[in-house]
Amino acid sequence: MNIPSEDTEDNEFYDICIIGAGMAGATIAAYLAPKGIKIALIDREYTEKQRIVGELLQPGAVQTLKKMGLEHLLEGFDAQPVYGYALLNNDKKFPIAYNQGDSTDFNGVGLHNGRFLQKIREDALKNDSITQIHGTVYELMEDSKGVVTGVKYREKHTRDVKAVKAKLSITSDGFFSSFRKDLSNNVKTVTSFFIGLVLKDCVLPYPNHGHVFLSAPTPFVCYPISSTETRLLIDFPGKKAPKKDDIREHILTKVAPFLPNEFKECFANAMAENNFKVMPNHYMPAKPVLREGAVMLGDALNMRHPITGGGLTAVFSDVYLLSSHLLAMPDFNDSKLLHEKLELYYQDRYHANTNVNIMANALYGVMSNDLLKQGVFEYLRKGGDKSGGPISLLAGLNRNPTLLIKHFFSVAWLCICNLAEKNKMNLPNIFKIIKDAFCIIAPLAVNELRPSSFYKKNTQH
Ligand SMILES: Cc1cc2nc3c(=O)[nH]c(=O)nc-3n(C[C@H](O)[C@H](O)[C@H](O)COP(=O)(O)OP(=O)(O)OC[C@H]3O[C@@H](n4cnc5c(N)ncnc54)[C@H](O)[C@@H]3O)c2cc1C
Repeated sequence: MNIPSEDTEDNEFYDICIIGAGMAGATIAAYLAPKGIKIALIDREYTEKQRIVGELLQPGAVQTLKKMGLEHLLEGFDAQPVYGYALLNNDKKFPIAYNQGDSTDFNGVGLHNGRFLQKIREDALKNDSITQIHGTVYELMEDSKGVVTGVKYREKHTRDVKAVKAKLSITSDGFFSSFRKDLSNNVKTVTSFFIGLVLKDCVLPYPNHGHVFLSAPTPFVCYPISSTETRLLIDFPGKKAPKKDDIREHILTKVAPFLPNEFKECFANAMAENNFKVMPNHYMPAKPVLREGAVMLGDALNMRHPITGGGLTAVFSDVYLLSSHLLAMPDFNDSKLLHEKLELYYQDRYHANTNVNIMANALYGVMSNDLLKQGVFEYLRKGGDKSGGPISLLAGLNRNPTLLIKHFFSVAWLCICNLAEKNKMNLPNIFKIIKDAFCIIAPLAVNELRPSSFYKKNTQH
């Protein structure tokens, strides 16, 4: 699609203006720019970030990158294939592969998010149709009818205030988005915090797997992010960020005693480095308000607990969906058609992300519940469909919400049977399991399920 802008001599007129060259913004730029769409890509910072977010791509995310022809962006920076998950509970452990039988179709990838993002940005910015802008956007401009016509930003180096005009402004400015209030009724809540450490030269019990530890009072996970580094993410429950002293105390009392022996040395080294990073974990169901000339993408629109590594599965799926609708237009000049496409994108993305969103917060709820987490461990250990179904949901490869609900209640049922078997009079705990299971799943189902979740195509490959 090669569309002349309104004023080809004035670089301030664009088809699309993207606020935030993060995972969502840079990826949609990299996908659309080679198609000749004139894009202004604005970010306040283009240097490589050191973050603990977005370091494990589930196979669903990898598949969507492949669909967009962008899988080459995973190469050349020591990213690691991830073949599945391992669950560890005291002295018991077992792996679950993403692929069933002899298939090798689906892998996840563990990586340094900062390196990956730089690759995506580089790939986007090599296109002539993109203009890179270094600045902080502070306002959406609108005309007298309330149609968004572009953005105002403060340029980083000159501190000048400038404007960019575009037919479509995409707000992909991440989880502290400044434009959420203009384009959604979203309400975000902090579920917990993740404390991140890097373990160096650590031999994992199951190499090239994500590891989930269930024996500790709060869950923690780890996965490779390069050939020599493993990311350890430790949950810190509650809505208040841990203070420096709380972090050490939490790790030493709630994590260290539950680490396998092969971790002890690299863990001690990581503690000595004292380089902890802390991030809030949000839940924010998408409640977009349709507005002409603007659309939301990425964490600005929708967030879920990162325990399942589902964020980028949702982000890339949204990038692909929005792009498919935009690319179906002959050009960006028909504002009514553009508006219809934005509406379709918001509708379609519900189905695409239902399972990713429910799975993330339901699993976090289950893993933070002493009774249910023992049930999930036993259930998955049975193998066959009981591990194959849940891993396809976790991987972001299966979008069938009926399957998710079936496995969720099967876990609760297993817990009930186990309790009843031990002691038939264990009624308080049996009622507690039923109540806890409903309290976890009901609000998620209300927020995330739509009629379309049940009848649309359920595989994403
Ligand atoms: C602790 C944690 C761990 C996670 N781990 C995983 C994982 O393992 N796997 C996974 O798939 N997902 C994970 N996620 C989720 C995933 O990282 C996010 O879904 C993803 O990064 C969102 O991308 P984004 O583009 O919306 O936001 P970001 O990548 O944060 O990008 C936002 C961009 O906007 C820019 N910006 C912000 N405001 C402005 C402004 N006013 N003007 C100009 N630019 C601006 C910022 O500089 C930034 O570059 C994790 C999340 C958390 C919190």
